[in-house]
Amino acid sequence: MRIKELKLHPIAVADGPLRSSYGLHAPYALRTIVEVVTTDGITGISETYGGDGPVGALESVRHRVEGMDPFQLTGFWQYLQGQAREIEAQATSTGARSQTWLVPGENPLDVHTRTNAAIEVACLDAIGKALGRPLCDLVGGKCRDAVPFSAYLFYKHAGGGGMGDDAREDEYGEILTPEAVVRSAKQMVAQYGFKEIKLKGGVLDPDAEMDAIRALRAEFGPSFPLRIDPNCAWSVDTSVRVGLGLTEELSNGGYLEDPCAGMEGMGEVRRRLLAAGVDTPLASNVATTCFAHVPVAKQTDGVQIILSDPHYWGGVRAQQKLSDLCEVLGLGMSMHSNNHLGVSLMTMAHAAAVCPMLTYGCDTHYPWQTEIDEVVVGGRVKFHEGTVVIPDKPGLGVELDYDQVARGEERYRKLPYRKRDDELEMQKHVDPNWKRILPRW
Ligand SMILES: [Mg+2]
Repeated sequence: MRIKELKLHPIAVADGPLRSSYGLHAPYALRTIVEVVTTDGITGISETYGGDGPVGALESVRHRVEGMDPFQLTGFWQYLQGQAREIEAQATSTGARSQTWLVPGENPLDVHTRTNAAIEVACLDAIGKALGRPLCDLVGGKCRDAVPFSAYLFYKHAGGGGMGDDAREDEYGEILTPEAVVRSAKQMVAQYGFKEIKLKGGVLDPDAEMDAIRALRAEFGPSFPLRIDPNCAWSVDTSVRVGLGLTEELSNGGYLEDPCAGMEGMGEVRRRLLAAGVDTPLASNVATTCFAHVPVAKQTDGVQIILSDPHYWGGVRAQQKLSDLCEVLGLGMSMHSNNHLGVSLMTMAHAAAVCPMLTYGCDTHYPWQTEIDEVVVGGRVKFHEGTVVIPDKPGLGVELDYDQVARGEERYRKLPYRKRDDELEMQKHVDPNWKRILPRW
């Protein structure tokens, strides 16, 4: 079996005006659907970041992928590592780049792991289809039959995403108060059955966000683990103040995610919380974004829970390596997400299913997208009591609906932008003078 053709489908997916410390989500999120078509007539699929950068990175490996045996993933990774060394050398000469200032998918130092993930998952999907086995079985089999996800809450303005005739219904309405946060959580929990809750913070004054977390605790009780993620919007002092103020609310399986920027700051927050008798774990997808960061997280005690993500850690097998590393180092593991459709959701589910250390409900933006944008046959992937059940189907367990993919490509073609820029969106729609300031509080 050889790969005959690599097909790339850049698509646009309607997205609501969600807020974070990066700014505002644009009316459409950009994604790329990847296909590897084999000489046996089997097509493997994956989903990754969208826009010119990710599409360009995938185009640059077309000559290496076409003609490749999809089983030979180690050789492909070695090829990408060669490219990565060149990129790293350039990055060092132009100054260090930090994930703190970049939205996921835009870090040039991750380009090889993102590209590897997109190709690896599509190859594993093709192999699974060739063998008639689920993707997770190709890398050792699952340690759980159903993967729990969390209710991922956002502050947002009114609007459901999309533009003009293509505007989506605003399912959740404006969310800028503790009452609205609780209302959105109840809606999401009722619809999907989630049993863990995460609030994207770093948007309002920290005291208002603490009130929202307290309101969630009052509504759902201690059996629902709670987490808050302000994406580095707070200083060390504010992070400590919030950690102390939410000691009870973030206990019982909750965590404090990226309260401030940098491993050093996170380490100081940890030390000061511990000194006050508070052992709320700190989680990160900003201070820890690659394997080299993991031992540092352990040494400095800046991060106790590593947020994985098969899309930029290198794929499903890299996720497993991360699980092993977390086990060796005694670290916890959870999963980060970006706006995505069903192909990514199934990738995340298979990736989580093969990681014994991944013991927290994974993040997912899935509730913020709609049926209109879904590209898998049969419509949106169903949740069962907050989990995605690993289907007994070959590969990822989903197929592409090509009419829906074509609609996504049409939306993409009509868009004037090819890169995510939350700061610009914020300036266009909310405040012309808005700048991302860290720490803001
Ligand atoms: Mg995060």
